Amino acid sequence: MKEQIYTIPVNEAYDTDCECPLCVLERKLEKEGVDYALGAAMMEPDYRVESNDIGYCRHHYRLMFAVPNKLSLALVLDTHLQEIRKKMDKHEKAVTSQSKGGLFKKNTAAGELSQTLAKVENGCMICKKIDYTMNRYMDVVIYLWNNDPNFKEKFERSKGLCLPHFSRLADMCGRTRGSEEFLAALFKKEKAELSRIQEDIHKFTLKFDYRNQDMEWGTAQDAPIRTIEKIAQYITEEE
Ligand SMILES: [Zn+2]
Ligand SMILES: [Zn+2]
Repeated sequence: MKEQIYTIPVNEAYDTDCECPLCVLERKLEKEGVDYALGAAMMEPDYRVESNDIGYCRHHYRLMFAVPNKLSLALVLDTHLQEIRKKMDKHEKAVTSQSKGGLFKKNTAAGELSQTLAKVENGCMICKKIDYTMNRYMDVVIYLWNNDPNFKEKFERSKGLCLPHFSRLADMCGRTRGSEEFLAALFKKEKAELSRIQEDIHKFTLKFDYRNQDMEWGTAQDAPIRTIEKIAQYITEEE
């Protein structure tokens, strides 16, 4: 049996009525990641060394900035900025003292500088942890579908996944032995759920025609947000 630390949350997420159970899991990890980064991690020297090095992505800075007390965030930023400046110093000589090359000579100092900066921009402690745990969760989804009939039923009752998670899970199937049947079921499920969403969003547009004033909304009333969530993951912060 797969470790319960992963199977329990996956089962709980599939018990939730939502457009994507993996989004439910990711949202929770995101919140935990922010709480940890500004809480317990402050006392973890190893974490601080790494967070000083790679920092956080724009999205997760936004969530960290939304926390009212700014002291932890300021401490994190203070030491991360020190590291960024040290990294820039290492490029100083090459960038400021290079001789003028010919028209076709590549400016290697510029390329190396932008590589360093890209690492700072793309690194994120919270994304890193989320990616690791989400991979375990997706692994468990495939395992449970193959081994637990109760889960298979839950999967059938679910509303599919958002496209980014559908894509990642399909990719995981490509790297998981014995997942062919699951991939076929996943694809069939997603196709049906995208068609349901299409009906809702189309109905939403029809309601704006005065001739359809009396038409029942049915499930179409919140179709725009659910369609976005389906295509591109959640965009609002609240649960
Ligand atoms: Zn999702
Ligand atoms: Zn991030």
